[in-house]
Amino acid sequence: RLEEGRALAEDVWSIYNVANLPADCINLGQGYMNFPPPVWLKKAAEEALGVVAANHYSHPKGRMRLREAIKNVYGPQLNRVLDVEKEILVTSGANEGQYSVFTAFLEDGDEVIMFEPFFDQYLPSVTFNGGKPVYVPLHPPSNASGKFSSDEWKIDSRELRDAITSRTKMIIVNTPHNPVGKVFTKAELEMIAALAEEHNLLVMADEVYDCLVYDEKEHFRIANLPGMWDRTVTVGSAGKSFAATGWRVGWLIGPESIIKPSLAATTRIVFASNSPLQEATAAGLEQVQGRKFFQQQLAEYAERRQVLTDCFDTLGLPYTNPEGSYFILLDISRVKFPDDYPFPESVLGRGRDFRACWFIALEIGVSSIPVSEFYCIEHANIGEVYARFAFCKDVDTLRNAAERFKKLV
Ligand code: GLN
Repeated sequence: RLEEGRALAEDVWSIYNVANLPADCINLGQGYMNFPPPVWLKKAAEEALGVVAANHYSHPKGRMRLREAIKNVYGPQLNRVLDVEKEILVTSGANEGQYSVFTAFLEDGDEVIMFEPFFDQYLPSVTFNGGKPVYVPLHPPSNASGKFSSDEWKIDSRELRDAITSRTKMIIVNTPHNPVGKVFTKAELEMIAALAEEHNLLVMADEVYDCLVYDEKEHFRIANLPGMWDRTVTVGSAGKSFAATGWRVGWLIGPESIIKPSLAATTRIVFASNSPLQEATAAGLEQVQGRKFFQQQLAEYAERRQVLTDCFDTLGLPYTNPEGSYFILLDISRVKFPDDYPFPESVLGRGRDFRACWFIALEIGVSSIPVSEFYCIEHANIGEVYARFAFCKDVDTLRNAAERFKKLV
């Protein structure tokens, strides 16, 4: 199983890790912040270390205080009173939660549909568990300027229908989407939901960027569509919600029929997740409303996004303006670099975008992630025209990056 897909190749996050790049390179690659979580949350984390029980194993379902906090914040968004014993599972980051769902539900050869490009971890997480990824394209638009909204990346309902077979077990719906930034519309989710119902499929709703949806656009949850609660697991993340990606605290919300087997898996994979940071995450969720934290944070991200979009507009660089998440895809097809540039081994033998991103990191001084990594090997060439820049950085850093982009044209 390790040999399927690219699981044995060096993962993209490690190749473009700051450790491999010059110290003065501005890191817009892997999506993590260069600022700390809010001070009040850091204080809650410190306080948690002073509580004896919070230093020890939590229940594998997660600490009760966090499950209660998740219930109070997400219950209203899911239009139901969540059962903290049966419908919420705390995991070691969203990634481990998703892995547990695959472990719990996939039989050898079961097919999992994902929209391509897809967050790269889905592929090995599915194949390690014996599943078979099936790809349905998110079609980028084409126009002369090359600038468009992530909304213009479209799915074709016929292609989705044709991808479903008697072996299909699950569809992954990632909204807001990494790396495109697309926020799926209600109509798109209804179309997916209708097919899931018709073919009795599970839906994994990866909504880790749910608090980062811009321009008054609405984030719809597929779990809220009629009949969908019973077949949907919704995935959330403290890392994204509180600028704390290294905390590795995430959660699954869904019906007992999905949470119970996923709990069985997570218990055997990690037994329980990091206790003190669960406690701190609980404190965070308890205070978001009073502090209007998500609203304020969203405004800050909108400003960060604007630094890059203004820069790309001024320079006439083609890009996808994201409706959600903190990523921007830049069309790099016109970026030129010498073939004999001293590329490292890990970059040679991969797509053109791997070389372009390496060249941009070293010569322009801004790192990014090559988007072919978000496509399967057979379709990698479609992604080769894009580099993904993460704007979860302070405004000054982004302004410096914007200065450097001038050298791109
Ligand atoms: N979710 C983050 C990103 O897309 C990082 C993922 C990872 O490092 N595995 O940048």
